[in-house]
Amino acid sequence: MSTSLLYHAYGLRRHDYLGTEYKGNTIILKVKTKKQYLQCNCCGSRDVIGRGKKEREFRAPPAGSKQVIIRAVIQRFECKHCGKVHQERIDFADEKKTYTRGFQRYINDLCRVMTIEDARKIAGVSWDTVKRIEQVYLQKHYSKPKLKEVLYIAIDEFAVQKGHKYMTVVMDLVRGHVLFVGEGKSAATLEPFWKRVRCSGAKIQAVAMDMWPAFIEAVITNLPRAQIVFDRFHITKLVNDGLSELRRQLYRDEILLNKRPVIKGIRWLLLKNSANLKEDKNEKEQLQQALEINKPLAMAYYLKEELRLLWAQNSVEKAKDFLGKWVAKAYASGITVLKKIANTLLAHRSVIFAWIKYPISTGPLEGLNNKIKVLKRQAYGFRDNEFFKLKIYAIHQSKYALCG
Ligand SMILES: [Zn+2]
Repeated sequence: MSTSLLYHAYGLRRHDYLGTEYKGNTIILKVKTKKQYLQCNCCGSRDVIGRGKKEREFRAPPAGSKQVIIRAVIQRFECKHCGKVHQERIDFADEKKTYTRGFQRYINDLCRVMTIEDARKIAGVSWDTVKRIEQVYLQKHYSKPKLKEVLYIAIDEFAVQKGHKYMTVVMDLVRGHVLFVGEGKSAATLEPFWKRVRCSGAKIQAVAMDMWPAFIEAVITNLPRAQIVFDRFHITKLVNDGLSELRRQLYRDEILLNKRPVIKGIRWLLLKNSANLKEDKNEKEQLQQALEINKPLAMAYYLKEELRLLWAQNSVEKAKDFLGKWVAKAYASGITVLKKIANTLLAHRSVIFAWIKYPISTGPLEGLNNKIKVLKRQAYGFRDNEFFKLKIYAIHQSKYALCG
């Protein structure tokens, strides 16, 4: 084997090829550092004499289906100049590692397109080895995303472990990268993120988020110049929740008055956008009947539909005007649920109107949360939170979330 193949295939540039051994499914390449590269660690002199040697083995990328091991002669030598005795430094593997850097790169390439379990089978090493290599790589490249150029972010929390435990994710809305992953959903969860924002000198202009008071407080305190934006999806959810509550109340009343319940089973029809109602399934007709019988529900439904036009307003002035009229109608309806929604919208109107200037939303984060769920499912039985977080930081680089 030529020394140039040793370099191009295995990253060994200073070695002589001594020979090959075949053992079962394994190819063992024996190498030794060329004399001219033995250099005193103290004075730099190359004038050295041998003082013993030992052999060490390193896993290297496979050749086809064969595993490859580099068996290197590690030399001890004495410096004739200063008299110190050294063991040569290994330049193709990290300290205390039993695999070459080329093997690390090979594993990382595999991990980008398959699970740890798959990579382990192909590479013929343990699950832990693959995980350790990937963890070091992720730590180095993804754990500290650059914040300096970041302008628009989204913050959202999501449940892990069926609602008992939460994680908070901050996303760069321009590049789609995860900027921060924290455990919990309190103001303290975001503290490390604010610290990094301050150090980076980032000038974040707008933050998309939901109406979670702890985060609102935290953003106001830590990014006093940034505009908070509640996106329309959260407002829509607020109104839909109100409508469902009203339907439940009215349903209970019907039962109490011994009436035949007509508003049973129409919850989804109420929440659907009117344009999406299916003609062939009589959805329109079914909804129409329920609304005709029930005036408060009808009122609430039409106001819900009307509110969607708020996001069609193209200036803050028009939006203000529109919301004012909507709130007046909600109050005039006398329906408590609607009045409550009107109050919430009024209290948050400036952050709702902010959407007109900064049309950002946490929508991209919702998509990411789905990927995280897949990651979590694949990682069942796997409890390393730090690793899980690193995988989330790197999630934009893989088409599918792979773990386990
Ligand atoms: Zn020396």
